[in-house]
Amino acid sequence: MRVVFLGPPGAGKGTQSKQLLAYLGVPHLSTGEMLRQEIRDQTSIGLESREQIAAGRLVADPTIMKIVSSRLNQPDCARGVLFDGIPRTLGQAKALDELLASRGQPLDGVLELKVDEDELVRRRASRGRADDRPEVVRERLEQYRRLTEPLIDYYGRQG
Ligand code: AMP
Repeated sequence: MRVVFLGPPGAGKGTQSKQLLAYLGVPHLSTGEMLRQEIRDQTSIGLESREQIAAGRLVADPTIMKIVSSRLNQPDCARGVLFDGIPRTLGQAKALDELLASRGQPLDGVLELKVDEDELVRRRASRGRADDRPEVVRERLEQYRRLTEPLIDYYGRQG
């Protein structure tokens, strides 16, 4: 079972993912968590993406696809994957479709998490992550609306 989980920053995808995992029985692939780990490990990807993340801007598609494709090669992903925070752009959606097609493991579904804006602001204030400062959050929401929201149509057209 391969499922993409879409929703605005702070909607609670991480929390909901953990609940879903127990139900789906597949690993959770969060590009945000993977990038934060790369930063902690001070890898070249971590050093490259640190500034973008701190500013609330998206990391370049090729970097994202590199970490995703190497994660998919790990044996636990054979059972399926819950994609959380990827794809975030049309380019990533197409690249992910191609990557999964080449592996003979297409997506089974897409879930969209919808949350009221005021509720988003309230929840974010209580998370305390470095990129949860109000000006960064505004940028992340802006990036979501401009680059990620169109994916709802993209997947809608695929049925
Ligand atoms: P998240 O934990 O999913 O909210 O991601 C935190 C930050 O990591 C985002 O604001 C982006 O800067 C970066 N990021 C995570 N996933 C992606 C992705 N698929 N494409 C581009 N940037 C990403």
